[in-house]
Amino acid sequence: MKEEFKKLIDLIKEYNPKADFKKIEKAWEFAKNAHEGQRRLSGEPFAMHPLTVAQILASWKMDTTSIVAALLHDTVEDTPITSEDLVREFGQEVANLVGGVTKITNYRLKGSIEEQFVENLRKMLLVMSRDLRVVFIKLADRLHNMRTMGALPREKQIQNATETLEIYAPLAERLGVGKLKGELEDLSFPYAYPEEYKKVKDLVESYFKKGGIEADIETMRKAILSKLVKQGIKAEVHGRKKHFYSLWKKLIRPENDWEIQKVHDLVALRALVPEISDCYVALGIIHNTYKPVPSIGVSDYIAQPKPNGYRSIHTKVFGPKGRIVEFQIRTFQMHAEAEFGLAAHWSYSENKASGISGEKLDKIKTPSGEKLSWVKQLVGWQNEIADTEEFLKAVKFDTLKHRNFIFTPMGDVYDLPSGATPVDFAFAVHTGLGKYIQGARVDGKIVPLDFKLKSGQVCEILTSKNPKKPNIHWLEFVVTNLARAEINKQLRASS
Ligand code: MN
Repeated sequence: MKEEFKKLIDLIKEYNPKADFKKIEKAWEFAKNAHEGQRRLSGEPFAMHPLTVAQILASWKMDTTSIVAALLHDTVEDTPITSEDLVREFGQEVANLVGGVTKITNYRLKGSIEEQFVENLRKMLLVMSRDLRVVFIKLADRLHNMRTMGALPREKQIQNATETLEIYAPLAERLGVGKLKGELEDLSFPYAYPEEYKKVKDLVESYFKKGGIEADIETMRKAILSKLVKQGIKAEVHGRKKHFYSLWKKLIRPENDWEIQKVHDLVALRALVPEISDCYVALGIIHNTYKPVPSIGVSDYIAQPKPNGYRSIHTKVFGPKGRIVEFQIRTFQMHAEAEFGLAAHWSYSENKASGISGEKLDKIKTPSGEKLSWVKQLVGWQNEIADTEEFLKAVKFDTLKHRNFIFTPMGDVYDLPSGATPVDFAFAVHTGLGKYIQGARVDGKIVPLDFKLKSGQVCEILTSKNPKKPNIHWLEFVVTNLARAEINKQLRASS
């Protein structure tokens, strides 16, 4: 652990040689003592966790207070240390950050019924919006937990992965930390949707093998890089593969329907250049070398940044063998912003870093003020918007809109995938109930068994007197694995 701590110090020295290293070392000693004897499920000493979280924050170039709070972030939750102890030893600001992280951790989102869920989400966002650094510490904490999730029981894995996909990855996106969003999603994907993950992975592997895509991309990369250099532009050109999770989201869109050749940004090339004017020179060079695709052509997010502040020029061109390839052009600074978002803005110096709170957000200058205003609005929205659906729409956590909460007549709630039918519902309630399905009533009305249930509906299964064989046609419309497996099992047993 000594070496890992030295790594942390070296990381910080690189971007902030004036950091308060005495305080950081004191925090590390304090955390080590507090967590003495505790181990993680993976077997390693617990203190490695806060240390790694601090390293992640240092890689985002965060200030001393954040690093100190990261080292201490689990002490109040998991050890006899109190918040008063932290105030005395490290000051009010550190104690507030640790308190914020502790609170958020306790607002469990998964498994609570919809109203509580939204209530908890509101509380969570409120805590975060008081000091944005809480969000970054929490995101780093979640990132390390996701990286080391292998040791957890299956149920916990699914719970954490789903919560990460629904809350933390969108939060990272809203804050403009694109790199983190992609990593969180890819870590969660195989746990939350193992079958879909495998399907995407196999599809990509066979597609790459067949098409010789990597060699073509390398040819394009070299061609453009050499032309940029000839123009005297100090450029870098990189190839990048699309993250599996966002690829899956694209593949399941009706217009794509799992046809991978329809996803044009599966592989993209990224040109990084020093100045904004160089971006347009690069665009000219690219279009001169490869014909742009007419109808889906160029998006200039430099002239018109995306709502989260993202800036780049995107263009799609015909590469070798007529395959469509996406180019992204941006300056080095835009790249840093796209990868590290808000962290990139206030992290560089200590004075800029102190006291990032809702009221002070106005005073921070960023090239794209949008990111900050989103956070600022959160506070207002939480008070103003009473309606659950409106609130979710406002915070734009799209994944949550697909949550499907179906109620029993007794008020129990089941969280089913979209497109779920009364048959899926019956098996979710109890596998035994599947043997007695006669019909279904939704909100008091009789519906066919392939009816698509919507969030908030009350579903009642009408049962037969005696158990019967499931109908083989149910397999054509059920969407949950559980229902499918049970129907198959019962069909086999009765034949
Ligand atoms: Mn933690």
